[in-house]
Amino acid sequence: MSKEYEVVIGLEVHVELNTKTKIFCGCSTAFGGAPNTHVCPVCSGMPGSLPVLNKGVVEKAIAVGLATHCDITRNSKFDRKNYFYPDNPQNYQISQLYYPICRNGYVAIKDANGEEKHVRIHEIHMEEDAGKLVHDAFTDETYVDFNRSGVPLIEIVSEPDMRSADEVIAYLEGLRETIQYLDASDCKLNEGSMRADVNLSIREKGTEEFGTRTESKNLNSFRAIKRCIENEVNRQIDLLESGEKVVQETRRWDDEKGYSYPMRSKEDAQDYRYFPDPDLVPISVSEEWIEEIRGRQPEMRAEKIERYKEEYQLPDYDIDQLTGEKKLADLFEGAVAAGADPKKASNWLMTETMRLMKETNTDASNLRFSAENLAELIALVDAKEINGAVAKEVFEKAVFSDNLSPVQYVKDNNLSTKADDGVLSEVVDKAIAANPKAVEDIRNGKGKAIGAIVGFVMKEMKGKCDPATVNKMISEKLN
Ligand code: ADP
Ligand code: ZN
Ligand code: MG
Repeated sequence: MSKEYEVVIGLEVHVELNTKTKIFCGCSTAFGGAPNTHVCPVCSGMPGSLPVLNKGVVEKAIAVGLATHCDITRNSKFDRKNYFYPDNPQNYQISQLYYPICRNGYVAIKDANGEEKHVRIHEIHMEEDAGKLVHDAFTDETYVDFNRSGVPLIEIVSEPDMRSADEVIAYLEGLRETIQYLDASDCKLNEGSMRADVNLSIREKGTEEFGTRTESKNLNSFRAIKRCIENEVNRQIDLLESGEKVVQETRRWDDEKGYSYPMRSKEDAQDYRYFPDPDLVPISVSEEWIEEIRGRQPEMRAEKIERYKEEYQLPDYDIDQLTGEKKLADLFEGAVAAGADPKKASNWLMTETMRLMKETNTDASNLRFSAENLAELIALVDAKEINGAVAKEVFEKAVFSDNLSPVQYVKDNNLSTKADDGVLSEVVDKAIAANPKAVEDIRNGKGKAIGAIVGFVMKEMKGKCDPATVNKMISEKLN
């Protein structure tokens, strides 16, 4: 009889903080500049240069710690993690080993039975990111770009509390949502602003002791994480079932090929020779500072959900969708503040916006239209200035353009579908005269036949009228 196993998973998650400047110098953290344009002596590791800590990084790290129920370390400091690698210009990374800024928190998730479960956070520490190596396959040369060197990171280390791939995804979604709400990072796995390393082991169900774990790297989507976990669980169970041992090692997941391979084993684990960084003074966090940061924490998702129920009486489904992305919630609230009806604003965001994001394979961070633009569009439809079909057309244009005003756009492109009532009335008369069969059907109780007359009018008017108005006019004339 084959044994029953339990999966044990702990995550190390790196998140790039979105401060304007790097952690120890004034260089820009902007993503994607020309290589080596966001560099200075500090972040390119020049001898004699001195790091100066960016206060904003500490504040964002504390904000994340507070939102994940951590204790904030009152006396924290930085340590050097020494290793040689070409993307690491100082030959050490400034990190926190002994006194991380936050400890002992948790993220609440739902387990397989729908029960609330706390995935504990062991610590959150601050550190600097490394540069990037770019390999040119054509010339077989490797280049180094230090733009990312010194970009602030927090590393969030969980306890080994997760028991399935679904719990891992729930934990990561919880973290991402919290950090996005705090405006501390955009948390994009595909761009590397959020990166998760998965530590995984297997044990016989009912036993206390943990099995030997592996660590999987290079996971840049939730899908890749899920597939990697499933693959690694099977690999470890196969090893145990055939009497072999799991080797403690770091493995790399190839998502295209769907398999993993060892990167390095514990035998070649590096000795980082950590020691306190002598160039940086300890960080003293006062109670007042913590309270100041706590006082600035924004409304988080759970609070928003409650408020939306009270204030807007939206269906639970709408609320769930809108609050799932901070950006959508912001657009929604902005549009309502600019006068839009809540349910109408919600509909545009849930249906058209989500459809367009899916079609163009983008996420909410790429939406360009403003809340005011959305409110304007809704007002145009309400005033029957444009019909639904034209509104969708305008929205498609506006959604990824900076500040495109629907009013202006409709005017510039002559898209108004507001028909002169006199003209419309004449066309409706003409349509009725031209469709005697439909008229007869309607009179005989076949309500659907009105479609033919409406279609005739829409065609005559070249789409520039409101179908509902046409419908009403026809019914009135036939009565
Ligand atoms: P190291 O010091 O080797 O980096 P840590 O104790 O800091 O190891 O753990 C790193 C990560 O691995 C943590 O997220 C932790 O929860 C997880 N972890 C530790 N032991 C196990 C295990 N046996 N199975 C699964 N995950 C584990
Ligand atoms: Zn710099
Ligand atoms: Mg560790």
